[in-house]
Amino acid sequence: MGGLSAGNFLAKYNKKVLILEKHSIPGGLVTSFKRKGVQFDLGIESLYELKEGQTIPQFLEFWGTTINAQKNTGDICCFIDGKRYDFRHDRLKEDFIAAFPNNKDDVNLIFDINERMYIEMNSGTGAPKPPYEMNLVELMKFGINNFIKKPTFMKYGMKDASVVLDKLTQNPVLRSAIYSKGIFPMVYMAYAYRFNVIGKDYYPTYGMQAIPDASVQSFTSNGGILKLKTEVMEILIENGRAIGVRTKDGECYYAGNVISNASPHFTYDLLPDSLTTKNKMKQKLEGKEIFPSICALFMSVKNDYNFENISCFSFLSSINYKDNHKNFTPENCPIEMVVYPKKPDDIYKAAVALLPIPYEYHNYWETSVKRERGEAYYKLKDEVTDTVLSRLDSLLGNRFKDSLTLAELSTPITFERYTYSKNGSFMGWSIDAKNYGKFLKQKTDVANLYLCGQWVFPGFGVAGVMASGYYLAKDLLKLDGIDLERDYKNYFMQNN
Ligand SMILES: Cc1cc2nc3c(=O)[nH]c(=O)nc-3n(C[C@H](O)[C@H](O)[C@H](O)COP(=O)(O)OP(=O)(O)OC[C@H]3O[C@@H](n4cnc5c(N)ncnc54)[C@H](O)[C@@H]3O)c2cc1C
Repeated sequence: MGGLSAGNFLAKYNKKVLILEKHSIPGGLVTSFKRKGVQFDLGIESLYELKEGQTIPQFLEFWGTTINAQKNTGDICCFIDGKRYDFRHDRLKEDFIAAFPNNKDDVNLIFDINERMYIEMNSGTGAPKPPYEMNLVELMKFGINNFIKKPTFMKYGMKDASVVLDKLTQNPVLRSAIYSKGIFPMVYMAYAYRFNVIGKDYYPTYGMQAIPDASVQSFTSNGGILKLKTEVMEILIENGRAIGVRTKDGECYYAGNVISNASPHFTYDLLPDSLTTKNKMKQKLEGKEIFPSICALFMSVKNDYNFENISCFSFLSSINYKDNHKNFTPENCPIEMVVYPKKPDDIYKAAVALLPIPYEYHNYWETSVKRERGEAYYKLKDEVTDTVLSRLDSLLGNRFKDSLTLAELSTPITFERYTYSKNGSFMGWSIDAKNYGKFLKQKTDVANLYLCGQWVFPGFGVAGVMASGYYLAKDLLKLDGIDLERDYKNYFMQNN
């Protein structure tokens, strides 16, 4: 989506843009696929940024396209230490108080902090300037403003969620219920955000694939060209500048600028060894922490299995929020399971269980350093699938396992293989307190070679990577005297 966004902004201004995508469908981590008559998304439940007036529909409208989306009115359900807790999407706080009556004050405090933080997070005006573009005075002003105008955010938002949760309540089950909406080591603002958008976020009527599909439609209408099943194998360099790419089938494409939407790790590998800066660029990535990996278990569930109105289940223990994610195994990891709305053509219901099991698990999932998938890899996948299904079955009951017509696991190795996102990361760099905000710049050390997507400012998430494309296009268009920021603002002032 980062590449499609950059491409769309540039094509709208009559730039000649060619997008090369190695997969047979566009969208990367925002794709959908069909198995035995059921459409699956890769695991995104829904997006607040799809609401009218938010980033995604605004970008699409500016490019000249649109999609249909519906509100996610699903409830949430947590199993903590085997006990079930239900929270309705429109009665969240009341249901939390009912579930934790002895911690009513803690619940009130947590919801109050979350809400104040969310209001502060949304109180900025316009698109933020990338911090690396600010001079010292601007940076100081930015910091002081934050301290004055965003006190709750500054007090809690940038600290690790586990640290904040320990302060907000002594009840480990309540802490875990909050942690259930994330299950990753993240700064607390991610949790505050996720709780605030429950019941307010949207799902594309025809599934997540609608977002890249609409983006391709506007891109091609504006003259852009997309070539699917075309893998870039080499970035061509002349006199230290990027001048084009060579693809797997041997074709060379030449261009004034080359933009990569793959992770910088894979991108820099495509540079020739003769380029003196290559090693230095690769070394700069070495000390940077990558967001923990994920596995996704795609399940199709017979129609008579009753999920009630729940769109998100989680299964965890009351200490998972404190665990080191590097030690997670199929037996002990927390699980988040999304149940998707049925599409008109779906024969069964689609559910996707997300499991934070490390990339390094069992010697890189029995693929060793070369990441070669052989019999041992597939055997391990079967074993992990069985373990996870047994856990789900014993908690959900109602013969859940017998209701499945398909269970297919994708590992971090799968995610990496499909997207060339390092370690299969679905969020780019880590966003715990130590690492949050350390995004790369769009501009690389090689002239005319740029990056977009979740590894560069302003980072992860569908809206985030689309914004990365906006920032890159803004810089490139500026060279032609085009003020994208002004045009974008004017467009919405005139049209609303
Ligand atoms: C389970 C899950 C849950 C998520 N939940 C949320 C959520 O709730 N909210 C949210 O906002 N985001 C969520 N995300 C994250 C979001 O999907 C990603 O941050 C974002 O989509 C990443 O986009 P990208 O453009 O940076 O990279 P990618 O999607 O990785 O795209 C890279 C593209 O480049 C192509 N490519 C790579 N190398 C080459 C090459 N050599 N030649 C040609 N093509 C190449 C790949 O095939 C791919 O299409 C979730 C993701 C997952 C998987």
